[in-house]
Amino acid sequence: MSLAGSSAPQVAVIGTGYVGLVSGACLAESGWRVACVDQVEAKIEKLKKGIIPIYEPGLDEVVVRNAEAGRLIFTTDIAEALREAQIVIIAVGTPTRKLDGNADLQYVYAASRDIARNLDHYAVVVTKSTVPAGTGNEVRRIIERENPNLDFDVASNPEFLREGNAVSDFMKPDRIVIGTDSARARERLEALYRPFTEQGFELISTDIISSELIKYAANTFLATKVSFINEMADICEKVGGDIGAISRGMGSDKRIGREFLKPGPGYGGSCFPKDTLAMVHIGEKALSPATIVEAVITVNRSRPHRMVAKVIQAAGGSVDGRTIALLGLTFKPNTDDVRDSVAVLVAEQLTQRGAIVRAFDPKGMDHAREMLGDAIEYCPTMQDAIEGADLCVLATEWEEFVRFPLEGYRAALRNPILVDFRNVFSLETMAEAGFEYHSIGRGSVQ
Ligand code: NAD
Repeated sequence: MSLAGSSAPQVAVIGTGYVGLVSGACLAESGWRVACVDQVEAKIEKLKKGIIPIYEPGLDEVVVRNAEAGRLIFTTDIAEALREAQIVIIAVGTPTRKLDGNADLQYVYAASRDIARNLDHYAVVVTKSTVPAGTGNEVRRIIERENPNLDFDVASNPEFLREGNAVSDFMKPDRIVIGTDSARARERLEALYRPFTEQGFELISTDIISSELIKYAANTFLATKVSFINEMADICEKVGGDIGAISRGMGSDKRIGREFLKPGPGYGGSCFPKDTLAMVHIGEKALSPATIVEAVITVNRSRPHRMVAKVIQAAGGSVDGRTIALLGLTFKPNTDDVRDSVAVLVAEQLTQRGAIVRAFDPKGMDHAREMLGDAIEYCPTMQDAIEGADLCVLATEWEEFVRFPLEGYRAALRNPILVDFRNVFSLETMAEAGFEYHSIGRGSVQ
C-alpha cells in the first residue's frame, strides 16, 4: 500500500471523536499517512494547533509527533482527505435511536454518501463504528447508488479500544477483527495492520456480518458480567456475603476470568448502554430474542435507583436540604466522557430529592455542566466539594480520590460518612479511620 513520490494521505478517517482520533493518530504512528476528517470546524481548528479536544492519556504526544512528522493531517474537506486514500475508515457516532433503541445509523449513512460523492478511484470503505449486522451491505448500496461507476469494496473493522486506555489498546490490541467478502479488500486491510501483526498481534479475518456481530457480542458479554456481579452484590447485601471474596473466588477460575467482575453503580459510558439496547433490537428484528441481554439491561437500569437509595439511607432517611459532596462525574476514571454516566443520573436524582450536590471531577466538569446545567454546584477542587458536606459519595474511582488521605476526608466533612460506589476502601480501614462507610455488596461500617 504505497504511493511512491506522493505525500497525500493513504488512509482517511471520517469522524474525529474518541475512536476516529485515536485510530487516525495510532495508524500514523505505525507509519501510514493519515487524514482525519470531521465536520465540526472548531474541533479541526484545535487539532491543527495541536490542541486535543478530548481527554485521553498519552494521545496528545502521539498526535503532535505524527502531525509534526507530516503523517497526520486534520481537515474538514473530505475531498482533500480522499484524494489518494486507499482505505477510508468510517468512525462516526452510532448513538441510540430514541424511537426504538436501535443504533442510529444516520451519521454512518451520511458519511457513506459524502465518501461516494468525493471518491474517484478504488478504495476500501471500512466501517469502524459499532453497527448492526447488515450495515456494511447498506453502506455498499448507498455508495453504489450515489456513484454507480465507482470501483470500491466495503469492509468491517470494529474497534475495541477503551476510553482512558485508548492509545495503548490500539497499539497493543488483544485482537484485530476484519470482515469483508472481497479478497482485494482483505489484502489492503492486512497490509494496513501489518505493523501490528508483525509484532505478533492476532488478526481475525471473517465475513462482514460476523465482524459486525463480534463487536456487539463482546460488549454485551462484558455488560453481562457487570450486571451479573451487581446482582450477586445485591444478594450479598441481603444474605451477608462479601462480594469482593466472591469476585476473587469466581474470577480466579480461568474459564471465568477476573476482569469485569467488580461490583459498582452499573455500567455507563458511550458504548455498553447503547450496544446492549442495539443487540436487543437486532434480536427482535431477527425474531431471535436476546433474552439474556434484556435481563442485563433490566438489572443495569435499577442500579442508579439503588445507589440513590443507598445515599438516602446513609443520610438517615432523607437527603432533603443536605449537602452532598459528589466525587466523580465521568463513567470511569481517566476520561472526560460523561455520556450515560451513572454519577450524572445519581446527581440529578439527589437534587430532585432536595439535596444540594457539590461535585468535583478532574476532567468531566465541562461535559457534566452541559448535561446538568446549574442543578448542581461545580467545585474547583475536591477539597472544595467535601469541605463542610454532610456526606460524601465516591462515584468514580479517580486516583486523586483514592489517594486522598482519609484524615483529609475526615477533617473536611461535617460528618465522616462515605458512600463508596466502587468499593475502593476495605471495611477494616474505614472502621479504623472512624468512618461510617457504605459500599456495594458487603457489610457497612456504622
Ligand atoms: P464521537 O461522538 O466521539 O465522535 C464522532 C465524530 O464523528 C464527531 O466528532 C462528529 O462530529 C463526527 N462526524 C459525524 N458525522 C460526520 C461526517 N459525516 N463527516 C465527518 N465527521 C462526522 O464518537 P466515538 O465515541 O468516537 O464513537 C464512534 C463509534 O465508535 C461509535 O459507533 C462507537 O460505538 C464506536 N466505539 C466507541 C468506543 C469508545 O470508547 N468511545 C470504543 C469502541 C467503539
